[in-house]
Amino acid sequence: MAAGDLTFGMQISSHEVSSAYGMVCRATEVLVPTSTEQLAAAIKSYAKLATKQPVHVRATHKYYHSTASFPCAAATAGQHDLPADSSAAMTVDVLMQGMDQLVTAGAAAKTITVQAGMTVSSMITIAKQQGLAVPLMAVPNYGGLTIGGIMATAATGTGTAGSPSALCDIVTNIQWVDGKGEVHSSDRSSPEGRAICGGLGVTGVVTQVTLQLQEAGKVLVRTNAHLADTRLMDDIEAMQKVSVRRSAATAAAAAAAAAAAAVAAACSSGGVSSSGVSGKCGSSSSSSSSSSSG
Ligand SMILES: Cc1cc2nc3c(=O)[nH]c(=O)nc-3n(C[C@H](O)[C@H](O)[C@H](O)COP(=O)(O)OP(=O)(O)OC[C@H]3O[C@@H](n4cnc5c(N)ncnc54)[C@H](O)[C@@H]3O)c2cc1C
Repeated sequence: MAAGDLTFGMQISSHEVSSAYGMVCRATEVLVPTSTEQLAAAIKSYAKLATKQPVHVRATHKYYHSTASFPCAAATAGQHDLPADSSAAMTVDVLMQGMDQLVTAGAAAKTITVQAGMTVSSMITIAKQQGLAVPLMAVPNYGGLTIGGIMATAATGTGTAGSPSALCDIVTNIQWVDGKGEVHSSDRSSPEGRAICGGLGVTGVVTQVTLQLQEAGKVLVRTNAHLADTRLMDDIEAMQKVSVRRSAATAAAAAAAAAAAAVAAACSSGGVSSSGVSGKCGSSSSSSSSSSSG
């Protein structure tokens, strides 16, 4: 069967896929589906073809981040860049960047359902647009990783016991296409759900995922310093000095505020406080201490 017969109008890009680190996968076919139905139809056709010839299908995306060769359909024993025809099998890389959309958002349940080609950066942005937040410890710290890739490798964040420490910890439902082209919807806790998380994609292609998020917090962390590392130690020492000066200024302001409060308290009780703090009653700018000092 000719390659074009199998693609159902999906864009066939070049027969190569580059990783974020310059490695290259080569495959007989490279597909970019935009829907689960489109992908399922193509895999059904590959399944028919597989009765005559082995067909290896792998999901990944352009600029994939895995440094192991798992995303490459033609790869064996850790080698990424084998020629597409080095395998007796027909090799198909499915690029998921065409499936990166929000499907539904459930404000009350604090969930979002998104396509599996969505990146970490987009997931965080979309959650924010819904007034929700991704528990940050649940995801690795690279914005370009995809939801499907993170789940397949069980790549972890930095959460500790009792908090989400992997994306799979906040997944509630997974839609996926098996090797026959059948579409499934599996709870995270089902045997299929457990096999998909950390299964390196061998169960099938994950196409859509429902995530349990949380209400957005109000803390904003912003990094203002973008420094070259040519004067690393000098820069760190300079930042430490600024930090020490700020701490000293904050401590002085806190001490002054505490002293003023003690004076106000002493004045309002008509004398010197038990801690011996004294001050001029009526000199405070606070209206309560002014009125109580008469
Ligand atoms: C075993 C392993 C563990 C890793 N653990 C960590 C970690 O703990 N923390 C961390 O920061 N990084 C980790 N990495 C490195 C990197 O973050 C992961 O490889 C991450 O999955 C890369 O994301 P990606 O979206 O580029 O996936 P890709 O590199 O494209 O794919 C990675 C794997 O997932 C499969 N896959 C991708 N999309 C789908 C999909 N939609 N459906 C089914 N399968 C799919 C691929 O076929 C491949 O097997 C790990 C890598 C590996 C190989």
